[in-house]
Amino acid sequence: MDIPRIFTVREADHRIHNPITADKLALLGRALHLEPGMTALDLASGSGEMLCTWARDHGLGGTGVDLCAVFTEQARARAVELGVGDRVRFVHADAAGYVTEPVDLAACVGATWIGGGVAGTVELLARSLRPGGLMLIGEPYWRRPPPDPETVEACEATSVDDWLDLPGQLSQFGDLGYDVVEMVLADQDSWDRYTAAQWFTMRTWLEANPDDELADQVRDELRDEPARYARSTREYVGWGVFALRGR
Ligand code: SAH
Repeated sequence: MDIPRIFTVREADHRIHNPITADKLALLGRALHLEPGMTALDLASGSGEMLCTWARDHGLGGTGVDLCAVFTEQARARAVELGVGDRVRFVHADAAGYVTEPVDLAACVGATWIGGGVAGTVELLARSLRPGGLMLIGEPYWRRPPPDPETVEACEATSVDDWLDLPGQLSQFGDLGYDVVEMVLADQDSWDRYTAAQWFTMRTWLEANPDDELADQVRDELRDEPARYARSTREYVGWGVFALRGR
């Protein structure tokens, strides 16, 4: 089992598969008051940048779980590159239902479908979190209300109800029994680093792989994506990582 290959084409050069930059990720790590020896579980860990850099910078240890074999391999290589291969490990597996011994920090950054939404993912992470531990959820929100169904669709949402607005999202965590103790939000520049950077990768890939079965799809996306993104996601979709502690 794996994710569709198109993601590994578009995001082949990404270390972070979300609209958060390396600087913002480092800022979040500092904001959380992490201490050496803390343990972490990162569900849908992608290429492992969060665990690997926080292991290097804060002495964290732990496990990342991701369904993508390519990203998981990249995560393992990154751990070795940063000299933290003895402290973090990456498992190629479905994170839905994945539960471990209680850790100090349990995260799901940008993949809450693994728990069927925010509430289900909070519940899933809670099963691996020690009492008083920190939970991290990365999730989109509506930055501005989408004016019509076409905009909702262009933002790659299935319905306006897929996401809340920022106050609504923060309130939802409260309703689930958690204090929001920190957050780091994307901005349009960090969205560009995630999205616009894919165009360069796609164009380079197309030149190297003109006969690949995905070439037509990638060509179409490269033609349509920049304007779609500028019209919709860049204007209407916010994104953030929210740090929670159970009440
Ligand atoms: N948290 C990482 C990756 C976010 S992108 C980062 O911020 O860089 C979403 C990730 O979810 C991808 O790496 C994808 O492979 C992974 N994914 C999708 N479905 C999954 C599942 N059921 N179980 C585990 N990982 C999954």
